[in-house]
Amino acid sequence: MARTLHIIGGGMAGLAAATEAAGCGMHVIVHEAGRACGGRARSYHDRQLDCRIDNGNHLLLSANTTVFRYLALTGATDTLTGPGAPVFPFADLTEDNRWTLTLSSGKVPWWMFMPHRRVPGMRLAELSSLKKLLSAGEDQTVSECLVPGALTRRLLEPFAISALNTPCETASAALLGAVVRDSLAQGGKACIPWYPKTGLSETFVDPALAHLRIMRAEVRTQSRITGLDIARGRVTALHTGGGDPITLTEEDRVILAVPPQVASSLLAGRVDGFTAPDEAESILNLHFVLQEAPIPTGSFARCGFMGLVGSVAEWVFLRDNILSVTVSAASRFAERDQEELIRTIWHDLRRACDPVLQSPLPANPLRQRPVWEKRATFAATPAQNHLRPGPATSLVNLALAGDWTATGLPSTLEGAMRSGVKAVHTLGLYA
Ligand SMILES: Cc1cc2nc3c(=O)[nH]c(=O)nc-3n(C[C@H](O)[C@H](O)[C@H](O)COP(=O)(O)OP(=O)(O)OC[C@H]3O[C@@H](n4cnc5c(N)ncnc54)[C@H](O)[C@@H]3O)c2cc1C
Repeated sequence: MARTLHIIGGGMAGLAAATEAAGCGMHVIVHEAGRACGGRARSYHDRQLDCRIDNGNHLLLSANTTVFRYLALTGATDTLTGPGAPVFPFADLTEDNRWTLTLSSGKVPWWMFMPHRRVPGMRLAELSSLKKLLSAGEDQTVSECLVPGALTRRLLEPFAISALNTPCETASAALLGAVVRDSLAQGGKACIPWYPKTGLSETFVDPALAHLRIMRAEVRTQSRITGLDIARGRVTALHTGGGDPITLTEEDRVILAVPPQVASSLLAGRVDGFTAPDEAESILNLHFVLQEAPIPTGSFARCGFMGLVGSVAEWVFLRDNILSVTVSAASRFAERDQEELIRTIWHDLRRACDPVLQSPLPANPLRQRPVWEKRATFAATPAQNHLRPGPATSLVNLALAGDWTATGLPSTLEGAMRSGVKAVHTLGLYA
């Protein structure tokens, strides 16, 4: 009988692990609890809006090399779109100002010396914030490293809150430093923004499933693993909640690629040294459907998205007749009156978008839909960062994966996929 690699969880970490392991000589089975794979990066038909949407806007940077490798392996690179250059349009609603940040492609940041390409009002002295982030200690927060000024308010704070999904006052400076090291510090070539042309599933899930079919890997949806049997320092069986447990041979391996609270419920107190982050942060995505597709102009047209400063939301994306905004670290808005929050965001959107659309937005959208992801990411604080485990466990045939494991990055697609690949290698499997 072929040796089997069981991957529990069909999110980005699990699919990246499966893609990496397919062809390594083991039979690969992905067990996904949901009806479809994708986890926190998925598309679905929303009945209220009567159209297909993503659970949340996802932005990638060209620095995300593991993601690009996964897309190349699964033949999905062409499903991304973006300006093809390190260009980011912004609107500041507090000071009624707009600009397009245009980074230089090489490592030398010439853009900082060109007023039409840099953040308006920034002082070169503020660049010391970047230096502080790059050398931040493990217990420092982002706020402790940021020098007050326009660069901080108009770029570094929005960048930090989007990348870490945690307020700057509590977010880990070391984690933001890791993102800066991979992106801004490498120059514009590493900062080219990309996002799915059609939807998250069309980019990250469907091509991977087609690839896994060809590689004879098995993907079982609606297959929740409810318990693991552990004996003699290894996982010996998987429980599925119905039917007989799946018995593992000495040769079989398991990658647990589920969210931290699920991993804790399966392993805490049973596996020596296991810890996991236990505080989460939410993200709110608000989708506004319009009667007609607005026609953008200038760099909003080129990019398809825009950064918002001085607004509840940080980003707006335009896809056909849908405007979607992302509100990061959204737990702070959970208690606010939801109708009033939606009205405020729509009001902000009209102010931000009208000057860069051929015709202004209507007073009200046709339909709208807030999507709260209450456990979008772990809270990227220094304390939570310390709780992230590495891929290896005290059980010889079990490795951990997921954006919450010790990837050195915040909860991101890059972190999730990196963890999946690392888990495969930790088990000694190579294609
Ligand atoms: C709204 C939103 C916006 C985001 N924006 C960005 C962005 O712009 N850029 C970026 O890089 N990242 C972004 N992220 C983060 C990114 O989506 C996540 O880091 C990544 O998808 C996490 O993947 P994962 O596989 O680690 O976890 P998950 O996606 O949570 O996957 C775990 C899977 O395990 C399954 N599962 C759970 N329990 C069981 C069980 N018992 N048995 C079997 N299966 C089980 C779940 O159903 C799920 O499919 C965003 C996240 C959200 C929510």
